[in-house]
Amino acid sequence: MEQTDLVRAIEELKRTSKAVILAHNYQRPEVQDIADFVGDSLAMAQYAAASEANVILVAGVRFMAETVKILAPQKLVLVPDLNAGCPLADTITAEQVLKLKEVHPRAAVVSYVNTSAEVKAVSDICCTSSNAVRVVRSLPHQGIIFVPDRNLGAFVERRVPEKKVFIWDGFCPTHHLVSAEEVAQMKGLHPRAEVVVHPECVPEVQALADFIGSTSQIIGHIADSEKDEFIVGTEEGVMHALRKVAPNKQLYLASPKMVCPNMKKNTLEKVYAALLSRQPQIDLPGEIIDRARRALRAMLEVKP
Ligand code: SF4
Repeated sequence: MEQTDLVRAIEELKRTSKAVILAHNYQRPEVQDIADFVGDSLAMAQYAAASEANVILVAGVRFMAETVKILAPQKLVLVPDLNAGCPLADTITAEQVLKLKEVHPRAAVVSYVNTSAEVKAVSDICCTSSNAVRVVRSLPHQGIIFVPDRNLGAFVERRVPEKKVFIWDGFCPTHHLVSAEEVAQMKGLHPRAEVVVHPECVPEVQALADFIGSTSQIIGHIADSEKDEFIVGTEEGVMHALRKVAPNKQLYLASPKMVCPNMKKNTLEKVYAALLSRQPQIDLPGEIIDRARRALRAMLEVKP
């Protein structure tokens, strides 16, 4: 099918099945353009929690679709490709979290949303890269077990020095693909540009940044800024949204290697096939949903 026919067919299926499409900022441009909502993990979770749609197709990776299912268990949650996983989420299991709790029994478990539903089910509260600092500050606990991203954990630790943060050693392979040397080189080429990076980047890259934030925070920062040149250190899919909100600004990806192969598994063809067949669906045990929802709700209740 031609792309325009495919887009038309998807629109028709959305209408007849009362479905909405949520897409992450790292999706292919054509998948973002067909979505009813595009955002980061926190914004997608908030949208799903408030949505009245019967069917939600999540164009992202598996943990994002699981998050939607946990928040809206009565809805049919579809994904374009069940194999779109997250290597960062895969670095920790629920059993490993339980062992950490045995070692630090008085600490609260804060799990980044980039975790499985099972890990969320044994966590006290979740966080995203938008609100991790706020979530940790909101807790009465002195000790924090932070899983699974070591760079986001270190970012939180620097901003909340009054707490003891025990950080899991996971990382996002895509955000590890940009080095401090590469960013420094880009700064040499574009000396007037502001450097904006995601907190999943290594600390040496974060140290060179003028602004550190989630994808939505990066988009908001660049759109609102009076500056007109930016070096962007996050997955390349975000450039599509940035070109829409800041069409007259000069934007440079910090490294052409910053492409998440899992995010790119979702295509328009797979979106169409999933809506048509109502497969693959996300299904989770009720007990996991109930326990994981407590951790996600606790996050959503943290005041902005
Ligand atoms: S960009 Fe990194 S954290 Fe996000 S889905 Fe890909 S591997 Fe996971």
